[in-house]
Amino acid sequence: MPDVVVIGCGISGAATAWELAKSGCSVTLVDRYGPAAMASGWTLAGVRQSGRHPSELPLAMAAVKIWEGLDEELQASTGYTQHGNLRIGLTPEDLPALRVIAQDGEAVGLPIEVLADAQSVRDIAPALSPAIAGATWCPTDGHADPDATVNAFINAARRLGVETVYGEAVLSLESRSRRICGVRTTSRTIATDAVVLATGISGNELLAPFGSPLPVDVKNVTVVRTRPLPPLLSQVLSVASACNSDAACAGRQQLDGAFRFTSGIKSWDGLMREKDGRPVIAPTIASLLETLQSFGDVVPAVREAEIDAYWCGLVDQTPDALPVLDHVPGVDGLVMARGFSGHGFCLGPLTGRIMAALVQGQAPPLDISAFAFSRFSGLTTPSSSPVTLHG
Ligand SMILES: Cc1cc2nc3c(=O)[nH]c(=O)nc-3n(C[C@H](O)[C@H](O)[C@H](O)COP(=O)(O)OP(=O)(O)OC[C@H]3O[C@@H](n4cnc5c(N)ncnc54)[C@H](O)[C@@H]3O)c2cc1C
Repeated sequence: MPDVVVIGCGISGAATAWELAKSGCSVTLVDRYGPAAMASGWTLAGVRQSGRHPSELPLAMAAVKIWEGLDEELQASTGYTQHGNLRIGLTPEDLPALRVIAQDGEAVGLPIEVLADAQSVRDIAPALSPAIAGATWCPTDGHADPDATVNAFINAARRLGVETVYGEAVLSLESRSRRICGVRTTSRTIATDAVVLATGISGNELLAPFGSPLPVDVKNVTVVRTRPLPPLLSQVLSVASACNSDAACAGRQQLDGAFRFTSGIKSWDGLMREKDGRPVIAPTIASLLETLQSFGDVVPAVREAEIDAYWCGLVDQTPDALPVLDHVPGVDGLVMARGFSGHGFCLGPLTGRIMAALVQGQAPPLDISAFAFSRFSGLTTPSSSPVTLHG
C-alpha cells in the first residue's frame, strides 16, 4: 500500500513523485499513457517568469531558482538554458501592454526592461525581423527539453523507489466517509490514504462523486517543429498583441537546432485519437498555415527550414487563467494541481514541492492562497476565461 498515489505523469505529477520520495514517502505514479504524453510533451517548454499574472510571478521566480540547479539535483540533463525571453510588440500600439508587463515584474524584483525599438531587440536576437516595434526583455527566463525533464524527474524518483505504472487509467477514487482510501484503475484497486491529482485537462470525472469539478475550458494550440538549423536564436520569443493579451505565436530554437513554435490559443472541437498508445490531435491546414506565417514573419530564416513534425496541444484554462494548487474541499487525503492555463511547465519543479508539502500536511514553501479551489466555489462552467499567455 503506497503512502501516496500520484495520478498523472506530466511534469506536475513527476515532480511531485520525486519530492515525496525525497521526503521518504512510498509512491505509486500512475498514467493512462506514459511520461509527458499530454501537455508536458506537447508544450513549447518555455521557462518564463515575465508576463505572468502578479500573483503567479513569485511562483515562477521561485521555480526558476529550482531550474537553475535541477540537472544537478536530478543527476540528469533537462536541456535547461537561461538565455532570456523576448515578448515582442509588432506595432507601437503594443508597447503600453509591454510596459505593464515590465512594471509587474519590476514590482517583485524581476530583471526586466522594455526595448522600445526594433534595433535594440535585434541587438539581442539578430534573427528577428526588423518589422517589429519593441519587446520586453527578461534575461533570466529560458527554456528546457520537456521530455528530458519529465524523464529526469521520473528516473530520479524511481531511484528512490517510486513505482511507475503506465497504460493504466484511474477510473475512480475510492473513499469512505469522504476520506480517500484508494484508486480504482482499469486493472485493479490500489489502496492508499492520499492521492495527488495532476491530471491536466482530465480529472473532473474523478471529482464528480465529490461534487467538486474544476471549471476548465479546454483550448487548442498548434505546434510546429522543424528540422535543425544552425544556431540562430537562444531566447524564447512570444508575440504580444495590443487588443489581445494572448500570444499570437511563440517559439524557440531547441538545443539540437530544431525550431519549435506555436499558434495562439484557439477553441477545440473535442476530437482526439490515439496513435501508438499516445493521444494525438491533428491541426487543421488553416491553423498550420497561420502558425507558419506568423512565426516566419518574426523569424524569417525559419521559412527555409524543413518541417519535421506538427501537432496540437491542449490547454486547461480556468476562469482566471491561474491554476488550483490545493486540497480538494470536503475530501480528506486528496490534493490537486490542475488548471495551469498554458503556463504550468515552468512551475513544474515548484508544483512538485507544493503538492508534496500539502499531502504531508506541511506548510507550502510559498503563499499559495491565490490558487485556492474555493475561489471557483459554485462555478461549474468556465464562462468568460481571460485569454492567457503560453510560451
Ligand atoms: C502548446 C503548448 C505550449 C505550452 N507552452 C508552455 C510554455 O512555454 N511554458 C510553460 O510554462 N507552460 C507551457 N504550456 C503549459 C504546460 O505545458 C502545462 O501547463 C504543463 O505541462 C502541465 O503539466 P501537468 O503535469 O500538470 O499536466 P499534463 O502534462 O497534461 O499531464 C497530465 C497527465 O495525467 C494523465 N492522466 C489524466 N487523467 C488520468 C487518469 N484518469 N488516469 C491516469 N492518468 C491520467 C495524462 O495521461 C497526462 O499524462 C504549454 C502547453 C501547450 C499545450
